[in-house]
Amino acid sequence: MRIGVLGGGQLGRMLGLAGLPLGVQFTFLDPSEEACAAAVGRHLRAAYTDPDALHELARTCERATYEFENVPFQAAAELVRSVPVYPPPPALEVAQDRLREKEFFRSLGIPTAEFAAVDSLEDLEAAVAHLGLPAVLKTRRMGYDGKGQRILMEPEDLQAAWEALTGPRTGSSPLPTPRVDGLSGGLLAEALVPFRRELSVLAARDSWGEVVCYPVVENHHEGGILRLSLGPAPDLDPALEELAHAYARRALEALDYVGVLCVELFEVDGRLLANEMAPRVHNSGHWTIEGASTSQFANHVRAVAGLPLGSPRPRGWCAMVNLIGHRPDPAAVLRVPGTSFHWYGKAVRPGRKVGHVTVCADHPEQVAERLDQLRRCGVPLPARAAAGLFRR
Ligand code: AMP
Repeated sequence: MRIGVLGGGQLGRMLGLAGLPLGVQFTFLDPSEEACAAAVGRHLRAAYTDPDALHELARTCERATYEFENVPFQAAAELVRSVPVYPPPPALEVAQDRLREKEFFRSLGIPTAEFAAVDSLEDLEAAVAHLGLPAVLKTRRMGYDGKGQRILMEPEDLQAAWEALTGPRTGSSPLPTPRVDGLSGGLLAEALVPFRRELSVLAARDSWGEVVCYPVVENHHEGGILRLSLGPAPDLDPALEELAHAYARRALEALDYVGVLCVELFEVDGRLLANEMAPRVHNSGHWTIEGASTSQFANHVRAVAGLPLGSPRPRGWCAMVNLIGHRPDPAAVLRVPGTSFHWYGKAVRPGRKVGHVTVCADHPEQVAERLDQLRRCGVPLPARAAAGLFRR
């Protein structure tokens, strides 16, 4: 079995590593010279929409998937004409548009922050009159890692935020240019949620419709980038975990999904609000490589390859710390008990995810102690992530 993957970054690389013991091979279509998944498969270096490259992928692969949700939808739509593409392209289409994503959640009875579509400055004023302040203004498309969004605190912030996201222009002219691949751009305003914490739920569905759900994870972002995940999330009310699993199942079933799906959630006042979904393996699931019976990567490969899923049962308590623009000394890191070092083979640049460290332990306090040890070896932890993380 050979699986074609749109995208050849670290998620592709970890899919490739998970596929090796299953005898699954990979071809990664990625325009970048530096695609780090090339170490574990064939690298087809071309634009995602290059017709010859898509034809080659479809000709040489029995299945296709994607590891990056901003790949042009038309590439997946083209591939699915000649090879099964999992997750199904409609999942990609929904996830690429924050407005459609929120409407999708609502249609399934999954609560979200209050939101409104914004296509002009007047729309923004009307949205804020309805949502109140503070609020968040986001691009509908292509935002990731906190890019493409502005917080609105005061009425005076509206014009500047509008201009920052659409380019300065006079008056309230609507967005003039489609931003991505012929699909319209546009913005979305949301009420700012005073969340207690951010959570995510990963689940996988196979081609027989069987679903497995991983324990819910607690996530810490800084500057819009995920820094730290705690899996399973400490002190989570079991009723909320059950709810998160029910929401993930609902989304998987509605999309007749095959593969791993991540839904990002806010925990607020004992409730869960869905923020967005990623139709792929996700950074907040990296801890499952060491921390669960079957990793998110192995389960994604299994689902896409038409194999049964493995157990998502956690093996203990884990923390995953992203290495962003920085390489700590691997020897020092690995001296901390229960620690694994993952390096993606990418050039180190500021703000770039270049690896991650996972630490596993028998109980949450031990994870906290080991995180403190990692901090002393130069593994950067978010400011809030003191040992107290696990002792609320
Ligand atoms: P997003 O691009 O929608 O994934 O948002 C990136 C990050 O911004 C989230 O992980 C949150 O930390 C924050 N954020 C996004 N939307 C909201 C919201 N409506 N209320 C509060 N924080 C938000």
